[in-house]
Amino acid sequence: MKIVCIGRNYAAHIAELSNERPEDPVVFIKPDSAVLPKEQDFFIPEFSQEIHYEVELLVRIKKVGKHINPRFAHKYYEEISLGIDFTARDLQGKLKEKGLPWEKAKGFDGAAVIGKWVPKTKYRDIDDLHFSLSKNGVQVQQGHTANMLWKVDELIGYVSTFFTLKKGDVLFTGTPAGVGKIQANDYLSGTLEDEEMFSLKIQ
Ligand code: ZN
Repeated sequence: MKIVCIGRNYAAHIAELSNERPEDPVVFIKPDSAVLPKEQDFFIPEFSQEIHYEVELLVRIKKVGKHINPRFAHKYYEEISLGIDFTARDLQGKLKEKGLPWEKAKGFDGAAVIGKWVPKTKYRDIDDLHFSLSKNGVQVQQGHTANMLWKVDELIGYVSTFFTLKKGDVLFTGTPAGVGKIQANDYLSGTLEDEEMFSLKIQ
């Protein structure tokens, strides 16, 4: 299983990190070892002083596909969830400065939080979903999938021109504005349309 992530998919988040608006989706991969095991706390790694949360809508691929036409992309997933793309922002900044790949800052152990999966049929429209992240009971991020620069089906089409998508692969669709730093003893929880999808403690 691979994790395909999209960067810079919400205009407000691009602005908060002073990034350029991309011409094409920004794509990167996390290894399967990055998945934080269920019910496990997240341990801040020793190589970073600045781990950021990024709450994102997730889509689980249900069958193999390559060069998927966005019009048919909906046939390739049935379940969606919410997760966190943990990012070592200090390390990522250094790598970006040198034009080097981000993997160490994005793909470390535990850097992919995956919430519970729910059938997409539960919702009327995947392009009209509200989600949020709370830290210690205070909402810190709020997203609306209508604000994605590239919608879920367009992302699946785009990504599948480079990578064959396989059953069980997970797509992280990018984070809205409001990313920020975590500290030991923080408690994070993610909500999709008023339903809690994950919660975890930081160590
Ligand atoms: Zn992200």
